[in-house]
Order: sequence, then structure tokens, then C-alpha cells
Amino acid sequence: MKKIIGKCSECGKPIHIKGLCLRHYKRVQNKIFRARHPLKCRQYCKEWNIRLKYEIFSHYSGEQPKCAKCGFSDIRALCLDHIYNDGAEERRRITNGEKRSLNGQKIYQWIKKNNFPNRYQILCFNCNIIKQRELTDKRI
Ligand SMILES: [Zn+2]
Ligand SMILES: [Zn+2]
Repeated sequence: MKKIIGKCSECGKPIHIKGLCLRHYKRVQNKIFRARHPLKCRQYCKEWNIRLKYEIFSHYSGEQPKCAKCGFSDIRALCLDHIYNDGAEERRRITNGEKRSLNGQKIYQWIKKNNFPNRYQILCFNCNIIKQRELTDKRI
């Protein structure tokens, strides 16, 4: 076996290949792949996002995600509901008060990273809107 000598030019760890450690080598390869196959990459990204959504929704709802109130189960019309209605506060917590936009994807990533906090449920858009209406005491 050939002895590996030298250090990664990015981080100083032992070299894996081409002057880089394994982690940085992979990072470079990813970059090249992304540049060469932008469409494929977007597709991967999309699939990954869908998987993440399923993972989050089935954690809070069961293998086949469904609305906690009415049982509606088309994931396209399901959403993550803040049980305690503190979405605004949570937004601040996740972004650290920064005013950058927070989309669903970022919330899902945050939830996963924080071991699925026990404060969400899955509702369909109808039940979600009805809940909002009830909170603000609007009948119509
Ligand atoms: Zn490195
Ligand atoms: Zn519902």
C-alpha cells in the first residue's frame, strides 16, 4: 500500500486524493457535478425536499400523513401546524432574529436538526384555516 503523505490544502487533515482530504475532495466533486449537470442536480434537490417533507409529516402523523382533524390525506394539501400558535416566535428563534426569508424547507430542516420538537401537528389547509378563523373568532 502506498503511504499517504501531505496535508489537505483546505483543512490540513491527511490527504486522501489530489491534495485534499476525503471531505474536501467530495465537496469539490459535488461542485463539479453541480456545474456540469444543473438540471439533474435540481431534480435531486427536489426529490430530497420531497423526502424530507414526507419524513417530517409522517413523524407527526403516521406512515401515511393525514390531517389530525378530518383525516384528509393528500400531502399536497397538508401543512405543518403550530399547536401552540407561536409561528411568529418560532420564526425568530430559527432565524436568530435575522430578517431573511424562512420557507417551508428551512423549517423542515430545522425540525429534523432539533429532533422533532413536540409542538407540531399535521392539518389540511381547510382545517388550518378554520383553526385560524376560530382563534380570531371570525365566523366567516
Ligand atoms: Zn480537507
Ligand atoms: Zn382537515
